Amino acid sequence: MINNVPNIIAQFNIQGSDFKVSPFGSGHINDTYLVKTLGLGQDYLLQKINNYVFKDVKGLMDNMVYITHHLKQKVAATGNPDKEVLTFINCKNGKYYYKDDDDNYWRMTCFLQNTKSYDMVTTGKQAQQGGIAFGRFQYLLCDMKPDLLVEVIPDFLNIEHRLAQLTNAIKNDKVGRLKEVLPELQFIKSRADDMKLLLQWGREGILPLRVTHNDTKFNNILLDEHGNIQCVIDLDTVMPGYVAYDFGDAIRSIINTAAEDEADLGTILLDIPLFKKFTRGYLSQTFSFLTGNELKSLMKGILLLPYMQAVRFLTDYLDGDVYYKTRFAGHNLQRTLAQMQLLKMLELHEDKLTGIIEKEWLLLSNNRQSDGA
Ligand code: ADP
Ligand code: MG
Ligand code: MG
Repeated sequence: MINNVPNIIAQFNIQGSDFKVSPFGSGHINDTYLVKTLGLGQDYLLQKINNYVFKDVKGLMDNMVYITHHLKQKVAATGNPDKEVLTFINCKNGKYYYKDDDDNYWRMTCFLQNTKSYDMVTTGKQAQQGGIAFGRFQYLLCDMKPDLLVEVIPDFLNIEHRLAQLTNAIKNDKVGRLKEVLPELQFIKSRADDMKLLLQWGREGILPLRVTHNDTKFNNILLDEHGNIQCVIDLDTVMPGYVAYDFGDAIRSIINTAAEDEADLGTILLDIPLFKKFTRGYLSQTFSFLTGNELKSLMKGILLLPYMQAVRFLTDYLDGDVYYKTRFAGHNLQRTLAQMQLLKMLELHEDKLTGIIEKEWLLLSNNRQSDGA
């Protein structure tokens, strides 16, 4: 635990002087601490920003302020901005981050009481709330200009960039593992052109660039005490993107009956009922602005995200496991195989999944028509 915490807390514009600090949450990127204020009724979360991942902290925090300001204005019309949108606390120097003497960067948000995040979706209700959460997030930001945001991790979800990194890893073959993975490379190569389609559609103007979350894991939403969506969190990777990225990344974990790194490939199956619920929630919020082409792109996103993850795991395996933390030898290869298996299952059920998306859309259209009639 950090020793200089009282000094760091003192840099932020919060009241009180009596605090109890403890590590909090299960996030993998930033270090998060709960700052309990004794007797004031408002607690805070202090986060040490992962400066290795986020090199441009000023750009990152400018994005946060800009996004949350926009969200709060939109939410104010119908809801409670302080409960439904993250609130960042500024420092005494006016900035929204503090750099300490050891060159660590810190930020603070209001802690949202009586909320919970879950690592895994286990019920249909949770899946639907997840879809509502990320769909509504995109809806609230669909009138914001994406190019005003700093691209905090350039080319984060750019498959051409990820494939170029893989090509580089193959060329270097740093730890001599290339000979082990020839079938996997063949699998990836055979799908590469198809997987570039979303980018091509974007370049051709077929898909609009929007503001997307880009880390749509279920533990990045907070549910209230009734299990309903309260707030979307972890806004670090909010950047310009395509709606299919957010949809596909959320589905990647929700639809998978096994873990991301499952060793027993036979247990990687599709949970279609959860998929349907998430889709229903998502479309209910995005119905008003999604274009026909974006609707078509959702299935592409479902296939792209596990593929991209397989490419990234395999690249790291060839590079000698330098990016992802591994728990055993061959962990990155096992992750690659699990994502490839998931992709195979998704490909097998593509028609079924497309049918569900179309049917849910149609149901919404019919409901809106009968509402209007
Ligand atoms: P990471 O980037 O490391 O995933 P997050 O911003 O997602 O960090 O925070 C980690 C965890 O802390 C979340 O999964 C959630 O459980 C909790 N959390 C984050 N922000 C808040 C908040 N404002 N109020 C309550 N809990 C929060
Ligand atoms: Mg998180
Ligand atoms: Mg994060």
